[in-house]
Amino acid sequence: MLKILVLILVLVIVYLIFFKKKKSDKNQKIENLVECKKCKTYISSEEALIKDNNFFCSKECLNGLDKS
Ligand SMILES: [Zn+2]
Repeated sequence: MLKILVLILVLVIVYLIFFKKKKSDKNQKIENLVECKKCKTYISSEEALIKDNNFFCSKECLNGLDKS
């Protein structure tokens, strides 16, 4: 009986380590920041607007660059 409990405990620890690693990988992906070409604000690469290989935080910044 004790062997089974130890085996379950090991499996739980392995599961927790794997889950924690997977979660940290996901966070790392979210924290992939890029700098707005116009106002130098850092935003998520998923939210960033891309024009001519430059990143922008908003449409205002994207359009604002053309005026300057
Ligand atoms: Zn901006």
